Amino acid sequence: MEEKFINIYGAGLSGLTAAINLARKGYNVTVFEKEKRIGGLEKCNPSVHMTPIHFKKMKEYIGFDVEPCFSELKKFKAYIYSKIVQFDPKYLYLTERGPNKTSLDYYLFKIAKREGVNFEFSYQLNPNIIKSIPDNSIIATGNPSGLSKHLKLRHIPFIHYDSCIKKGNKENFCLAYFDSYIGGYGYAYIAAKENLVSAEIDFFLNQPYERYFKKFKKKLKETQNLEFNKWFIINDNIPEKICLLKKIHGKTFVLAGALSGFHDPFFGFGVNSALISGKIAAMTIVSKKRGMQEFKRFTRDLSRMFILSKIYNHLPFKNIVIPRLFKSEITSLPFIGSNLQSIPGFTQADCFKIINTN
Ligand SMILES: Cc1cc2nc3c(=O)[nH]c(=O)nc-3n(C[C@H](O)[C@H](O)[C@H](O)COP(=O)(O)OP(=O)(O)OC[C@H]3O[C@@H](n4cnc5c(N)ncnc54)[C@H](O)[C@@H]3O)c2cc1C
Repeated sequence: MEEKFINIYGAGLSGLTAAINLARKGYNVTVFEKEKRIGGLEKCNPSVHMTPIHFKKMKEYIGFDVEPCFSELKKFKAYIYSKIVQFDPKYLYLTERGPNKTSLDYYLFKIAKREGVNFEFSYQLNPNIIKSIPDNSIIATGNPSGLSKHLKLRHIPFIHYDSCIKKGNKENFCLAYFDSYIGGYGYAYIAAKENLVSAEIDFFLNQPYERYFKKFKKKLKETQNLEFNKWFIINDNIPEKICLLKKIHGKTFVLAGALSGFHDPFFGFGVNSALISGKIAAMTIVSKKRGMQEFKRFTRDLSRMFILSKIYNHLPFKNIVIPRLFKSEITSLPFIGSNLQSIPGFTQADCFKIINTN
């Protein structure tokens, strides 16, 4: 039988999931990664990510178990325009990202190596190289790669400040911030898992973000007694449209992960959808029709979510409108549920159940 070769660009969650699945189907897979080691962009990692996930159903879909890399979340609080909203953390989990042996990235890398996937590190896909990469390659470089512009994908540029510190934690927790002191469009979160605490704060470029960033740091020190000593600024892009197959330079490329728009536009949840998206990219290599069907099935609500997030971003008087939403006895955030279609087995009722508001 003729050997089938496949190139995958980006050794993140979606690229590695695609690689594992294709290697198992008998493909000779090579993954090309910009960094000199596994674990994603050096500026963003190590970090702690929080995500809703159903391990059994995820395993059934992607073909391997990721549960060993996740820990239970014990507390999830959101500071939403002067309200403190406590969510039921029951279906939410924390995972470590980055180069450490305890990370999800490293765990997937080990499985991929076992399946015979080849790796080339320190290889950066750029607009000049794209012309010469093989037809039907998978591009899974994530959104900070900046390739979305060259691939003519619709996106909104934004920046984030990221930091991570080592700290002995009593419990795993996540804090989310939507408040005027981080700017009208801003969103920030702190996630702590065992000995790591990471922080991220996002801004659109038209904001006076340095001012808000200073305010946020002050707030963290005052309310949580948390101080991060080194922050990195990352240019990133929020996808505005979904795209599985991209025709460019007379070739067709399969997009995977956040670059394909398979990404929550509200909170930036992308761990679960990157795993699913990697599996779909692998399916697409085997059969374009099947891959397209699966892509449509999982992303059918995403276009609506892109519109909703745009409305939210431009909503005037958020500090008055948003707290009112939490006055009535709501018990979940219904608009988020449909976005979680990307998690096999999840229903709206499972996630973001509100247990207390004050
Ligand atoms: C700071 C931050 C915090 C986040 N927090 C959360 C969270 O709490 N919960 C959650 O669910 N999601 C979170 N996300 C989103 C989640 O990380 C992504 O959606 C998910 O990792 C996307 O997977 P991916 O495979 O598309 O990209 P990634 O996993 O980012 O992998 C992309 C890979 O491509 C490599 N690469 C980049 N450019 C090139 C290039 N030009 N050539 C070759 N290789 C390249 C990178 O080094 C990396 O290894 C966060 C994202 C960021 C940036």
